[in-house]
Amino acid sequence: MAGAASNEADKVWDVVIVGSGFAGALIAHELGKAKKEVLILEAGAPIPTNINDYMTRFYAAAAKVPESPYTPEIFDNNGLVDPATINAGRPTVLTLGPTGAKFGDWTNAKQAYLVQTGPTPFTSTYDRIAGGTGHWLGTSLRFVPNDFKMKSAYGQFTDWPIGYDDLEHWYGEAEAELGVSADKADQEYLGIKISRNYPMQRIPPSLVDQYVDRSLNAKPLTEAETGFLGAGKLETIPVRSLPAARNSEPYRNRRACAGNTNCIPICPIQAKYDPTVSLNDAMATGFVKMMHRTVASDIVVGENGRVSQIKYIRYQHDRGPRSDAKPGAVKAKVFVIAANAIETARLLLMSRDKTGIANSSGMVGQHLMDHPSYVS
Ligand SMILES: Cc1cc2nc3c(=O)[nH]c(=O)nc-3n(C[C@H](O)[C@H](O)[C@H](O)COP(=O)(O)OP(=O)(O)OC[C@H]3O[C@@H](n4cnc5c(N)ncnc54)[C@H](O)[C@@H]3O)c2cc1C
Ligand code: SF4
Repeated sequence: MAGAASNEADKVWDVVIVGSGFAGALIAHELGKAKKEVLILEAGAPIPTNINDYMTRFYAAAAKVPESPYTPEIFDNNGLVDPATINAGRPTVLTLGPTGAKFGDWTNAKQAYLVQTGPTPFTSTYDRIAGGTGHWLGTSLRFVPNDFKMKSAYGQFTDWPIGYDDLEHWYGEAEAELGVSADKADQEYLGIKISRNYPMQRIPPSLVDQYVDRSLNAKPLTEAETGFLGAGKLETIPVRSLPAARNSEPYRNRRACAGNTNCIPICPIQAKYDPTVSLNDAMATGFVKMMHRTVASDIVVGENGRVSQIKYIRYQHDRGPRSDAKPGAVKAKVFVIAANAIETARLLLMSRDKTGIANSSGMVGQHLMDHPSYVS
């Protein structure tokens, strides 16, 4: 993918997007189809032309963790490198070790990228490559209607200003873009309505799924056995397949899943969706461009109170000298910050001389809503 040409420095784009992960890639693709001129600022390195670049790094990795296939390198011959020497760093589950550990101490800023002062560490990760956190598993669940009305249904938290019906159409659109394999009848529970069928039938249940189903439901269940679920009298507990963004048949020029269970961190045959699929299609519209190794560093607000430009730092290398890094700025009519739950909050808070923007509530960065657990 070509970077934006330097003579475009003064251009006013229709939309500038920060981050090319799931959110950024899907938005860019939609805007590209609508013939909007889009520039993506992406902190990570370009997508290799051959997935085997990632596979080779994964095969060679001593520790096979979600981050292993991807750049920037977080190891050198001496072990974990000091995150401060990486130009756009990222967390790794290898730094979930105890305080004082020689390797992977989550409280040691010379080892762990995230500086955390709470009692327990954030136990997941995210990536810094074009295409974002593509080491996801592919599980593509919809919310159930009551998730949107926690206060009125369960008397706790708060109700959303929108409901399931407002998103229903868009769930269908996203499932078509990602290529989700699931059975409609299997997924229509707890009030979920699905008006657009999934693009592919479900991945067949594994032997373990079948065994659990048979064992759970060998005889009618008693209330004593199911009462803890709080769902009234149940005679069976259905075992459903998870909707998966993995092809159960060839879809959008990608192959069907071969069932080798390497989805985290990388599907060697790209049967699992990752955002590079949408990014490549976005680029193919001819309206979307991307600047790699370009870290958005400051969101600038104009006199009219609206964002006027975004400043960035563009690195030549993932690691090493910063003397050749170049600062710059881009202008657009609309800006989208799609830089991951943690990095989006960070960028908002470090903007406007670190007084922060879009934070009149004071809540930005206060309640992390991200993948909360370590998935190996
Ligand atoms: C091991 C694992 C398994 C998971 N499995 C699932 C699953 O099965 N189902 C599910 O729904 N979710 C899953 N998730 C969660 C899912 O991956 C994330 O929710 C998703 O990637 C978030 O998308 P995003 O676009 O917000 O951010 P990301 O995909 O993380 O993309 C953010 C992009 O922004 C770029 N960026 C960040 N800061 C800047 C900056 N300042 N300037 C320029 N670029 C920047 C990054 O380089 C990156 O490319 C999993 C996560 C992990 C870690
Ligand atoms: S082929 Fe393997 S890695 Fe790819 S989606 Fe299927 S099980 Fe996952």
